Amino acid sequence: MSTFTVLNPATEQAVASVPASSAEQADEAISRAAAAQPGWRAVAPGERASLLRRFADVVDAHNEELAQLEVTGTGHPVGQARWEAGNVAAVLRYYSAGPERLLGQQIPVPGGLNVTFKEPVGIVGLIVPWNFPMPILGWGLGPALAAGNPVIAKPAERTPLTAIRIGELALEAGLPEGVFQVLPGKGSVVGQRLVDHELVRKIVFTGSTEVGSKLMADCARQVKRVTLELGGKSANIVFADADLEQAAATAPYAVFDNAGQDCCARSRILVERSVFDRFMELLEPAVLGVAVGDPGDPGTEMGPLISAEHRARVASYVPDGAPVAFRGQAPAGPGYWYPPTVLAPVGADDPAFTEEVFGPVVTVVPVEDEAEAIRIANDTPYGLSGSIWTRDIGRALRVARAVETGNLSVNSHASVRYWTPFGGFKQSGLGRELGPDALDAFTEVKNVFIATE
Ligand code: NDP
Repeated sequence: MSTFTVLNPATEQAVASVPASSAEQADEAISRAAAAQPGWRAVAPGERASLLRRFADVVDAHNEELAQLEVTGTGHPVGQARWEAGNVAAVLRYYSAGPERLLGQQIPVPGGLNVTFKEPVGIVGLIVPWNFPMPILGWGLGPALAAGNPVIAKPAERTPLTAIRIGELALEAGLPEGVFQVLPGKGSVVGQRLVDHELVRKIVFTGSTEVGSKLMADCARQVKRVTLELGGKSANIVFADADLEQAAATAPYAVFDNAGQDCCARSRILVERSVFDRFMELLEPAVLGVAVGDPGDPGTEMGPLISAEHRARVASYVPDGAPVAFRGQAPAGPGYWYPPTVLAPVGADDPAFTEEVFGPVVTVVPVEDEAEAIRIANDTPYGLSGSIWTRDIGRALRVARAVETGNLSVNSHASVRYWTPFGGFKQSGLGRELGPDALDAFTEVKNVFIATE
């Protein structure tokens, strides 16, 4: 059996060797899921709810272990990794309220009774990327299980360790065999098999727009349900009347969190021209102040990039002669480090300004007014998130309604809370995860008429 070596991105040392599953093993996992499906669906709602709560408790009890796996396996700073493990438990707990609330409707009709049921969609294939291995796993897993579906997760090849451990914890918590399986392996082998297999009824994919659109086309052949969370090139719009100190102090974290490997990264900062120079003066110390270093140190705010290849890709957006306004520090020596980098001024067609860099590189451009800010913010195939900084509530609402994106924050950069919906416009995705309606993405509505006459 072939294996994949997981490297610590901060040291380049091998951490673990993980078997790469074959297409045949994917078929076996699908058979196990199919065998588990009727039993899982038949578990009484209250019992399924308490199993999910027990699962959440077991994940919480292993928070530190999971966090440390993520520190060594992905280079995430330990504070962030603890939050990520906690997020898995929180999402499981939130959707544990689902089984008892999968409500249908009673619709008035002549001659009988008409009711609707929310039936489980079937086996769910959950394809997870390397940038947030734990949260993105949890966002699909929680609602899919709550709605009565078995789940097969395919973690990213580089970052399978926490998913594998969470799969073991599910069994420890008492989830029946086959209800949640983790299948490490190549996307083109295992992921593709989940997409192609007729018994898998739904694919939840997070990753690149390129792979996502291909999977959507593949799913179309079987009219397979699909939820996509794809790339982003989000705008952080700063108007002249904003609290500039706060806007500048927080802007680095809106793009350099997770070393910029975040689909919500606000990687285009659009600043009203009259305050552009002042904003840049305030931004510089904020960027230089980002603590980049050992992910195991609780004071670290930014770790390394995921791999040497990815670092080379990020670096290609900052060629010799690029307009680097200023940049922060990064450790020398082993590890896939890249310093927080601010580019200004950049041309409208500079790839760093138009493409998803997925690294700690941000572009800052001046805008004349509200209309130009909206035009530039929308001048991208993406539409995932964004921020608006202004003290004018009317403008905040006008701009929030005009920007074509799924998640916006005003005077804040918060974009993901498990109890609010998350997802993208345009090529940033299809469908929504999280929030009160996520169970709908894992159920089919069945309408039943019962004649009374
Ligand atoms: P991919 O889209 O290639 O990978 C995401 C997931 O899909 C991984 O689990 C991958 O497996 C799997 N996959 C790949 N090919 C297939 C396939 N044919 N069928 C089924 N599953 C498949 O992203 P990359 O890791 O290559 O990252 C490339 C770029 O994508 C990044 O630099 C970034 O710009 C963007 N990206 C965006 C993310 C987001 O959150 N929106 C997340 C990750 C990446 P495997 O690991 O084996 O390749």
